[in-house]
Amino acid sequence: MVQAVHRHKILVVDDETINLKMMLNALKDDYTTLVATNGIKALKIVSSKNPPDLILLDISMPEMDGYEVFEKIKEYKQCENIPIIFVTASSSEQEQIKGLELGAVDYFTKPICLPILRAKIKSHLEMKQHRDFMTLLLNKQYLEMENRNSSHEKDRLEQQNRIQRYIEEVQENQERLQLSLWGSGDELWDWNLTNGEFRRKNPLPLKLEDIPIFSHIDAFQPLIHTEDFVDLKKSFFDHLKNEAEYFEATFRSKSDRDEWVWLLLRGKVVNRDPNNQPIRISGTLKNISRLKQAEQDLLLAAKSFENIFDAVWVCDHNWKILKINTAFTTITEFTAEDVLGKSLLTLMGEPYKEVLHMFAGQLLSNTKNDTYSREEVWGVDKQGNYFPQELNISVLRDQTNVVTHFIGAFTDITYRKNAEDKLRYLANYDSLTGLPNRTLFMERIQHAIDVAHRNKHQMAVVFLDLDNFKSINDTLGHASGDILLKEIGKRLSSSIRDCDTAARLGADEFALILEQVNHTSEILPIAERILSYIAKPLNLAGSQVSLSASIGITAYPDDSNNYKDLLRHADIAMYHAKSLGRNNIQFYTKEMDHRSLFRLELEQQLHNLVTNDQFLINYQPKVTLSTGKIDGLEALVRWNHPKHGLIPPDMFISLAEETGHIVRLGEAILRKACKESKEWWDTKQITGRLALNLSAVQIAQENLPLRVASILEETGFKAENLEFEITESSMMENQRLAEKQMLAFQNMGIHLSIDDFGTGYSSLSRVKDLSVNTIKIDRSFIKDINHSAKDKGIVASIISLAHHLNLKVIAEGVETLEQKAILTELHCDEMQGYVFSRPIANMAINELLEKQ
Ligand code: C2E
Ligand code: CA
Ligand code: CA
Repeated sequence: MVQAVHRHKILVVDDETINLKMMLNALKDDYTTLVATNGIKALKIVSSKNPPDLILLDISMPEMDGYEVFEKIKEYKQCENIPIIFVTASSSEQEQIKGLELGAVDYFTKPICLPILRAKIKSHLEMKQHRDFMTLLLNKQYLEMENRNSSHEKDRLEQQNRIQRYIEEVQENQERLQLSLWGSGDELWDWNLTNGEFRRKNPLPLKLEDIPIFSHIDAFQPLIHTEDFVDLKKSFFDHLKNEAEYFEATFRSKSDRDEWVWLLLRGKVVNRDPNNQPIRISGTLKNISRLKQAEQDLLLAAKSFENIFDAVWVCDHNWKILKINTAFTTITEFTAEDVLGKSLLTLMGEPYKEVLHMFAGQLLSNTKNDTYSREEVWGVDKQGNYFPQELNISVLRDQTNVVTHFIGAFTDITYRKNAEDKLRYLANYDSLTGLPNRTLFMERIQHAIDVAHRNKHQMAVVFLDLDNFKSINDTLGHASGDILLKEIGKRLSSSIRDCDTAARLGADEFALILEQVNHTSEILPIAERILSYIAKPLNLAGSQVSLSASIGITAYPDDSNNYKDLLRHADIAMYHAKSLGRNNIQFYTKEMDHRSLFRLELEQQLHNLVTNDQFLINYQPKVTLSTGKIDGLEALVRWNHPKHGLIPPDMFISLAEETGHIVRLGEAILRKACKESKEWWDTKQITGRLALNLSAVQIAQENLPLRVASILEETGFKAENLEFEITESSMMENQRLAEKQMLAFQNMGIHLSIDDFGTGYSSLSRVKDLSVNTIKIDRSFIKDINHSAKDKGIVASIISLAHHLNLKVIAEGVETLEQKAILTELHCDEMQGYVFSRPIANMAINELLEKQ
């Protein structure tokens, strides 16, 4: 490709003008031509100071024939290396051999094929150039040797070897160059500026004729995208003016399929005329569309990487940090300079390291390809402060599936955590005394039962009700009442051990859990001590007040092994104490529980519910707050008992759960509800969902989704019109299975709602991970929403967090218009409660729908 800039000189020796003209025409563009019409003139030219680089020599000429001229030329020392090509009209082999034997480099018979002539001349000139170069080198080496007087045979051999190696190297390099050009798929082009010919080797599939003619750079313009031509032209002229060593441009051109392709053009002037005007330009052309696309993709990726709100880190397989984005710095204050090249394992603290190790560990035991994990983890920022993150980790793998990179994206969830913590505190603690409230207390009882069970201890629940609080409150006023309650809270806390819990359950109702009890006899002294603490006089609004309380006590495991019963027993014992005259302590006994007999009777008759079809269903409308329209119904069961009349579910559902009857009963309820309601949905009088309550025992049945599916098929009620209400605690009882079941329901199209929300763990982030659609705020929060700022705050937080997680919110137990107005103001979606309708029989629902 690369040629010397100077033009080669070619001497054409022929006595026939036609031949001369033809050859000169073919050569004049690329070479400087000299002419001799006979041998004498030829010899004169070759012997001049400026001999030609190559000679075309006619054989049959008058006076001196070609052979003779040849021999004479070779007598000149300076002409030794000039390649001579014989040209003759005769095609006899004899003549050819004679010519070649004399030392001619080639042989042409007339009529001459001009392209072949041109090609051969070119290659002979190149060969000559090499030869000249080698001679020069040899001479130089020789001179050096002479100078150094090292005419030893050994040295000379060594020199020759070195030269030989050099030659080989040059050849190898040339071959390599050829190969690489071919392998690159680049087009090679050559533009003759004198005649405009544009020749192409290894051409790219573009919209171009075979050998197009371009008289001027502007002739290319129609082939090039308008936006790109100016740059190309500028680069071209910069080079022509010798301001750049070569020119280069990227531009778009149409492919043979009429699509725009991106091309990279490089070129260089390889020949100039004596006035230094360029006459030939060569170069390469490369299709870079794919590169351009990749470049754009990268740009896009880089842009999104930098602009997302999530912090992102990229590590190699050894957790070395390779890249972070701006959000990373915003959140952690670590700059790229601080962290690049460092180990992520040590950057963000111990808990973080553990999570990363755990992830890597799972990776080893995991055969999945796209391993991914989401964790809540504490990370540390540059100031050393810990903050909670929601961290997503995934990996990149190479073709052999080996992990090459870890990628993490995280958000700072401090805000969410704080909101949840606050919510949890509000939902679990009494704001007046700071003691745990009923919700947390129940949780603590369950926990205490578990611990006692494990340690083979006993445990006691103590109920305490102030005897004369109401009268004090009425005489001294609410403010004093509050001070008094606070004081009682303090006294209770100080009268118990660290392992115990004191709680405020209601207005003047307190309760305690006494743990690590070895013997029941230990309990009474504690209770007596509490009474004496409470009895200490107190100065309230200038007057001395003294209090007393009634205490009921129950113990695990003697009385019961579940928290509901323990709570109930302690309550019963407390009432008993009260009824015996105040300031009394009573331990629970079976005889105190009148209701237990009734429960026993019901328990024995539970089977009649399904077998004798003794249950019926009431429906309570759910109303969309914004429209006031009935959107759905909740099915609520009642026992139509032959002796006791309608029995509410609270009286028998827990019995049915304990005895396992709930499984059959639950299915029967679902069947009946679907049959009775189908009409309302078929006629589109109701378009929302029919909600049924599921108990934990039902969820624990592996085949529940299958059973539900078969009942839906049997009744023709559509899954997408069904919704299950599940309490948070039932979900927590058997988390794994519950999650599986919920997912199955979700897949069937059945919606799920968390019932009695706020009375359980209140972790919305947990709820978010489950397949839940709706949150049903427990009616205990709604009850006081119009006088309690605290309850209103809780409800507002639940609604805003739930909406943030794309969950719908319904409030239950809405009894007044004020409550309804507040819920509307807080953007609650739906409500359910006596203010709209009590749970009613299906016939009554018909009437209600007709009215609507
Ligand atoms: P739940 O799921 O929280 O049902 C709502 C309860 O609140 C119903 O009591 C309903 O009558 C009552 N309620 C509705 N509106 C108001 C209101 O404005 N104010 C007040 N104070 N209460 C209102 P119900 O029907 O006695 O049901 C009690 C519980 O029994 C239900 O609580 C649910 O946990 C359970 N239950 C009812 N039917 C079934 C059932 O078919 N299967 C299962 N597993 N449990 C059921
Ligand atoms: Ca419910
Ligand atoms: Ca409820």
